[in-house]
Amino acid sequence: QLFPPFANEPFTDFSQEDNKKAMQSALAAVRASLGQHYPLRIDGKAVETDGRITSINPAKKDEVVGTVGKASRELAEEAMQSALAAFELWKKVPAEERAGYLVKAAELMRSRKHEFSAWMVLEAGKNWGEADADTAEAIDFLEYYAREMIKLSETNERQPLVKLAGEDNKLTYIPLGVGVVIPPWNFPLAICAGMTSAALVAGNTVVLKPASTTPVIAYKFYELMVEAGVPANVIQYLPGSGGEIGDYLTGHPKTRFISFTGSKEVGLHINKLAAEQAESQIWMKRVIAEMGGKDGIVVDETADLEAAADAIVASAFGFQGQKCSAGSRAVIVESVYDKVVSMVEERTKKLVMGLPEDNAPVGPVIDETSYNRILGYIEKGRKEGRLLAGGGKGLDGGYFIEPTVFADAAPDAVIMQEEIFGPVLALAKASDWQEAIAIYNNTEFGLTGAFFSGNEQRIQTALETMHCGNLYINRKCTGALVGVHPFGGFNMSGTDSKAGGHDYLLLFTQAKLTSRRI
Ligand code: GLU
Repeated sequence: QLFPPFANEPFTDFSQEDNKKAMQSALAAVRASLGQHYPLRIDGKAVETDGRITSINPAKKDEVVGTVGKASRELAEEAMQSALAAFELWKKVPAEERAGYLVKAAELMRSRKHEFSAWMVLEAGKNWGEADADTAEAIDFLEYYAREMIKLSETNERQPLVKLAGEDNKLTYIPLGVGVVIPPWNFPLAICAGMTSAALVAGNTVVLKPASTTPVIAYKFYELMVEAGVPANVIQYLPGSGGEIGDYLTGHPKTRFISFTGSKEVGLHINKLAAEQAESQIWMKRVIAEMGGKDGIVVDETADLEAAADAIVASAFGFQGQKCSAGSRAVIVESVYDKVVSMVEERTKKLVMGLPEDNAPVGPVIDETSYNRILGYIEKGRKEGRLLAGGGKGLDGGYFIEPTVFADAAPDAVIMQEEIFGPVLALAKASDWQEAIAIYNNTEFGLTGAFFSGNEQRIQTALETMHCGNLYINRKCTGALVGVHPFGGFNMSGTDSKAGGHDYLLLFTQAKLTSRRI
């Protein structure tokens, strides 16, 4: 065995004084390095651009976290050519060696864990716990996909083909080619690292277009991979706008696959563009998309109501509801509805808003566009439900919005149907648990869900009928762990792929059968 068995990276206990001090000093160190410029990286070389993207602290709009280059189409073409050339060498690097780089990167990240988290506190507005979980998940993805690649390279021993006399048959999972990786800003390290490392370890090269609101932490990840030994031209670090370079790269004849995490609208747009055959293109592009969710928690009258209320609030408001997995709806049966509603109200009103760097439970949303969109939904919500908590702007100086709860929402209300991606929770009443499940299922998405009940038979029915990729019983619907809860959803939530699961790497490979007469 090349590596010890996989184990999830533990979360940091910040109630311990030494951990708290370590995080504070990481924050101070990161703050001292704010405002720097990070150029594009093409073929391993720094490339300066006329345009720049400015990344700010969403909690303090005036604070510049850093600036990064902004690629034009010409530079996107250069990045593609570099990735193509790098692929010819990288695809020949043995799987064990590629996996070794990921494990090395995990080791380096672990040793500077709080520094990575601190960047996310300041660039994404995550509080300490959320940022620490993000870094832990990034480490997990690196460690996990390294081991999965080794397993995939041992397919012939692990899952032998049927023997045929006179022939030697082998199945090999070979890489696809150049992939365009477009990660989201909400897990700006974990998902960026997961998507990129899965593609790389399988032998592909990558054009990485980081999210425009969190490009600095993505640069730190790029740097780390190079430090870990990955040849600098295997990843092209290429920030830029979706309309300018995202579409160009998606439509490029040499792009072999696009790995995307983000909104439904952008995912569908990519899927459509990728489906067309460009001139001189000789393959069907593969699209791996993890899109939105309108996830929810169902509570019946036999449930532990305190636990259910805790889970509803945690799922709705963790990182200000900016997770695809966020529980932005809860459906509660009539007989306990009022009780649960008041528990949720009470808990929500206790949430304290403040600066992520001070580890406040409630921080800002990511940027002005989100801020305005979410406030627009809150206005809609006022007409569609009864406002129980929040409903307004939060602290000045950043994109703060109060955790907001609407009760008595109709199942087909906009706030029950559309992904808001912010701190807005809708509560709906159902006559019984079956109706509650039906309301839960009444959505075009199917990412996460939770069912709270003390009744075994109902739990069995819920397990079978709640249609989502990640279904949890008697626990919150966020916080999937790599390897433990392979993550990804159904219907408009994406391509049914499972990040952090055994079959994920298959999406970045193709199987070649060789049969030899002996
Ligand atoms: N995997 C995360 C969770 O389970 C959510 C990922 C996302 O929001 O894209 O909470």
